[in-house]
Amino acid sequence: MRKVPFAVAIVVLLVALVLVAKTLAYGSKQLPAEAAPSVSIDTAAAAARLAGAVAFRTISFQGTAGVDTTQFQGLHTYLQQSFPTVHARLGRERVAGFNLLYRWPGSDTALQPVLLLAHQDVVPVESGTEGRWTEPPFAGRISAGYVWGRGAVDDKGNLVAILEAVETLLQQGFQPRRTVYLAFGADEEVGGAGARQIAALLGSRNVHPEFLMDEGGAIAQGVVPGARTPLALVGIAEKGYMSVELTVHVPGGHSSMPPPETAVGILSAAINRLQRQQLRAAIRGPTAQMLDYLGPELPFFGRLALANRWLFGGLIARRLAATPQGNAMLRTTTAPTIFQGGVKDNVLPSTARAVVNFRILPGDSSATVLRHVRRAIADARIEVRPLEGPLSEPSPISDANSPSFRLLQRTIREIVPDAVVVPWLVVGGTDARHYAALTRDSYRFSAARIGPGDLERIHGTNERVAVANYGEMIRFYLLLIRNSAG
Ligand SMILES: [Zn+2]
Repeated sequence: MRKVPFAVAIVVLLVALVLVAKTLAYGSKQLPAEAAPSVSIDTAAAAARLAGAVAFRTISFQGTAGVDTTQFQGLHTYLQQSFPTVHARLGRERVAGFNLLYRWPGSDTALQPVLLLAHQDVVPVESGTEGRWTEPPFAGRISAGYVWGRGAVDDKGNLVAILEAVETLLQQGFQPRRTVYLAFGADEEVGGAGARQIAALLGSRNVHPEFLMDEGGAIAQGVVPGARTPLALVGIAEKGYMSVELTVHVPGGHSSMPPPETAVGILSAAINRLQRQQLRAAIRGPTAQMLDYLGPELPFFGRLALANRWLFGGLIARRLAATPQGNAMLRTTTAPTIFQGGVKDNVLPSTARAVVNFRILPGDSSATVLRHVRRAIADARIEVRPLEGPLSEPSPISDANSPSFRLLQRTIREIVPDAVVVPWLVVGGTDARHYAALTRDSYRFSAARIGPGDLERIHGTNERVAVANYGEMIRFYLLLIRNSAG
């Protein structure tokens, strides 16, 4: 009789030993903090130049209709005037419209170049919300320590900070050993056809960067539960994008004598099944790597849980999946966005149509999503096909152990010494995906600080960047170029 409790005690003890052993072996992946090299930058003057760039309404639209070309032209002239040394010393070409490609030749042609990306275009301001802005979205104003306006963060902040960094380095007489390319697309917010053209051009010239750096990650403070220090989120992959169109055709008729199922009813049931049967959630790929970089920095019990995902994986996944942000990191998401059918209250529509947007996790693909949709709906009356328009597969996953990632880690710690650097999955899209064929190491990070409430400002109301933080963004690019190309 006493053998059973004894056996249980042994098992519990063994499990406890494994848990503790794994926790103790869960070593930090952070590099030692670096002393920040002194870089003097006139942040106030730089912020004024950023504000000037924000004032151009470089709004992109699907296709060329609606694009105000004078705004892009104006921005180009403004950049030429604001960064005279860059424009005197770097080669600059316009690619397929308003996309810009700069080349700063390195002294050692045997070394692979470095590619820095940003985009010139911005999203429009939703009409009716202009009055909610503290400063008007296109006035280019600085007040209360912030540069305000559409694009201050996404992505003119990065674009102009890159030019500030290069201008400063040129004035200091810095000569890169690696060639440095700067590529600024003009339509990132509507799919990045420009980036695709630049990538094709670079490919035709046999340019294969050592690494590329684009937007998509940030320094997050107070937005990840349990993390006490700032987290430098470095995107090593981004999700794919596909919208699926569902259409049902049935005989229409008078609503006084409805059949048991109508077009609207059939389609509603299908959407309902898709919502209930989501694609599988799992801690894998970049999200697993994120937890392995974050885990060792957590207090003991957090560390124990993350070090023992063989036991606590399900629990951690459920905790993560409880928020929309966490859920997006675990699975291909399902978002019904359009539902149409019917024109008159007493007429049964003969067709109904819905669109469901999927953001595809690395490891899944557009083909797996389509298979899943057909299986989950399981209704032959519904036609399922990819919606015409943007479709992209998930990007490859870049290496978080490459020399370039280490260099990036070191550079970030020079700017923010207490930052914990973690690999990250970008759940939106960036221009970087178009360059995947050119380099294995695509990273998505900017030194912009994102706190609670800041994420909603990007593409929303009151987009802004703190002047002091803008100084950090410039220093980050400056040190990144110095560390990688110097
Ligand atoms: Zn952007």
